[in-house]
Amino acid sequence: MTKLAIVLGDQLNHSSKLFDYLDPKVDVVVMAEVHEEASHVWSHKARIALFFSAMRHFYMELVERGFNVRYYKYGEHSYSSIASCIGDIIDELSPSEVLIVQPGEHRVLKSIAQRVSTSATPLVVLSDNHFVVPLENFDAWARGRKVFRLEHFYRLTRRQTNILMEKDQPTGGKWNFDVENRSSFPKGGPPFSTDRLTSPIDQTTRDVIELVNEKFANHPGTLDDFRWPTTRDDALLALDDFIENHLEHFGKYQDAMWQNEPLLGHSLISSALNLKLLDPLEVCNRAEAAFLSGKAPIESVEGFIRQIIGWREYVRCLYFFFGEEWTKWNHLGANGQLPKWYWTGEVDMVCLADTIGQTIKYGYAHHIQRLMVTGLFALLWGANPYQVHEWYLSIYVDAVEWVEAPNVIGMSQYADGGVMASKPYIASGAYISKMSNYCSSCRYSPAEATGEAACPFTTLYWDFIERHQELLNNHPRLGLQVKNLERKSQSERIEIKARARELRQIYS
Ligand SMILES: Cc1cc2nc3c(=O)[nH]c(=O)nc-3n(C[C@H](O)[C@H](O)[C@H](O)COP(=O)(O)OP(=O)(O)OC[C@H]3O[C@@H](n4cnc5c(N)ncnc54)[C@H](O)[C@@H]3O)c2cc1C
Ligand code: SF4
Repeated sequence: MTKLAIVLGDQLNHSSKLFDYLDPKVDVVVMAEVHEEASHVWSHKARIALFFSAMRHFYMELVERGFNVRYYKYGEHSYSSIASCIGDIIDELSPSEVLIVQPGEHRVLKSIAQRVSTSATPLVVLSDNHFVVPLENFDAWARGRKVFRLEHFYRLTRRQTNILMEKDQPTGGKWNFDVENRSSFPKGGPPFSTDRLTSPIDQTTRDVIELVNEKFANHPGTLDDFRWPTTRDDALLALDDFIENHLEHFGKYQDAMWQNEPLLGHSLISSALNLKLLDPLEVCNRAEAAFLSGKAPIESVEGFIRQIIGWREYVRCLYFFFGEEWTKWNHLGANGQLPKWYWTGEVDMVCLADTIGQTIKYGYAHHIQRLMVTGLFALLWGANPYQVHEWYLSIYVDAVEWVEAPNVIGMSQYADGGVMASKPYIASGAYISKMSNYCSSCRYSPAEATGEAACPFTTLYWDFIERHQELLNNHPRLGLQVKNLERKSQSERIEIKARARELRQIYS
């Protein structure tokens, strides 16, 4: 009997074990571009275009491999969701089973499972062999633990994969070269070329761009600068560009920012990884080989590999470990509205205008911009974490809930109460000033907390400490920040509060 296999938009893995279960002669694969996936959050145009184009390319490749694929193009069918599409095919084919690889969002599996359960057909959910750490292994490690620190997890993963290992010891004598990864750029800016390879736009992508511009015209972002790989071949070329030309500088300047330099020396492969066009181990093996051949130093290579078999695997495991809890958490009781200019970048704070501006242009910002500019402002502002989560899930081309939610709700907003990060990532404008050149052209001064020239980050930083004194006082590493606040005079504390109130009026 026929089996029915579902391939979702972020499951474009040629080596997926799903295909081992299928007989191309009798079984049917289904892929569909549906409105719900493109619009359940107010998705950036580039995110929609990337998914649709990559899906169309993958579909053609599956057909070349001999699979029988039913592909539903947006606008050429009437299904609003994957579940409704599957439902009709089940009614038509009465398959022996429906197969799917574990989706990266609880919502999607729930709705498919619900629809399949209305038939007598069993749904088989396969574990995702794209990832390095099986979820069962993480569960066994995590059960009974109160804290889940990346560093412990990462050492296990290094040992498991034998990447950057010499017998049982880490290459270079240390597990983690993080302290060497925090330099800012010299006065003249990045001391390396920031020219980056842009993936070519073929007819398939052109068709999709036209479709998205027409059907999703009111969605945020533009497609004028669409640059992301939509096939495995293009993703491999993007990886080559990074390994050959940029990995060398990656470590040292990982946290640095520079105005009008949106891409710097970052790898730009997150969307290709998350669509599963690239395999995390092949990426790490390429980086390790660059170290072994003397092309890149250990602090760059370890720093990069830690992001992939460390952070990326770790956030995924945490997402599935805590299930649907993630999007319900609000540990700090933050209920402010996320300012509307997050959707346009039209704001006079240079760091935010630059970060959001490039986000609108490309659907991309690098890690420290996401964490210490847009994320930090939302945290200090007291924005509701669910709203912040919706913004990040909408606006970045690499956003899929399993990776976005722990990073946003956990690491950036501390709404998980410390599952991911041992403390809220709070800082004043001084941090942005140290790590970028943004402040030199900004109307505000990062050193000032009060008055009209005060940097909003700095004012809101002190205001945050004032509002959360109790929480911070009980924290061994943050008590000092409360003590610093207490050293301020009563009148300055009153002025800070007053300026914070004004800022809330100005920037709402
Ligand atoms: C608030 C916030 C939201 C984020 N949302 C997403 C998201 O929706 N999707 C996403 O893929 N990443 C997300 N990240 C992680 C990280 O910012 C991006 O992976 C990275 O900026 C992508 O750019 P790059 O490929 O040039 O990465 P590089 O800086 O070159 O890093 C290499 C790779 O490591 C992985 N990586 C790095 N940091 C992380 C991390 N914290 N968690 C998981 N993987 C990581 C990515 O796959 C990335 O491609 C978020 C981080 C923060 C702080
Ligand atoms: S002064 Fe403040 S608002 Fe302006 S760029 Fe610096 S950190 Fe951003």
